[in-house]
Amino acid sequence: MKHFLRIGGFVELSTVDIPKRACCVVFLAGCNFDCVFCQNSTLIPIDSGDLIELTKLVSEISKNMLIDSVSISGGEPILQPALIPLCQELKKNFYVNVDTNGSIPRVVETLTSIVNRIALDIKCEFNSYADITRAPSHLVGAIKESFNIINSASNTDFEVRTTIVPSLIGELDVSAISRFLTAQNFRGVYVLQQFWNEGDVREFKTIESPTRSELIKLAKMAIDLGVGNVAIRTREQGYEFIS
Ligand code: SF4
Repeated sequence: MKHFLRIGGFVELSTVDIPKRACCVVFLAGCNFDCVFCQNSTLIPIDSGDLIELTKLVSEISKNMLIDSVSISGGEPILQPALIPLCQELKKNFYVNVDTNGSIPRVVETLTSIVNRIALDIKCEFNSYADITRAPSHLVGAIKESFNIINSASNTDFEVRTTIVPSLIGELDVSAISRFLTAQNFRGVYVLQQFWNEGDVREFKTIESPTRSELIKLAKMAIDLGVGNVAIRTREQGYEFIS
């Protein structure tokens, strides 16, 4: 049986998406959120991107001799049924990461037995979710369920990340999320990443990226609130653990 995926683009080589690894990033098209700060907004429409057959996609990725891993991002990858067979194929030769907004826990649960790593967005404090993501507020329950599923799957590397957007997502959010992570005995790495006001950003084009030192300050606050492993992701220095 042939499987098809809707692809929005590729980054052939990244050293910042997965720590200590060189990966390619595949952007799957279509998303069920409409985040106000989305940096890949052209991938939100469910019919965006181009269709590609799974074996052709895996063959293209496998030609890349510079990588040891593949990160599948979006859009929202878990919306595409062919994500599961894609991960199964890639896992034969690569360390595989999937980025997700966590809105479909049953797919997240399936992924925990297939992929090496899951990066779950917790975009803001949960009370602001409907405003920030413009998705139905009941999905907060689904995201918490996905969190618990991954947090219990000890064989799957786990990143929770929040994109810091000055004037929109910052200290109050990191504080609330850190308290949640600590209360849930979070076992993974909490990553604070820079917002970049370029590409497909719509509403926040005039907002500057947070500086590295601002992210370090927020990371130290997360540590003070009990989160064990905290990192930042910046354009200047890539992925850095903070202690
Ligand atoms: S979940 Fe990601 S891809 Fe979807 S709208 Fe939000 S930021 Fe954009």
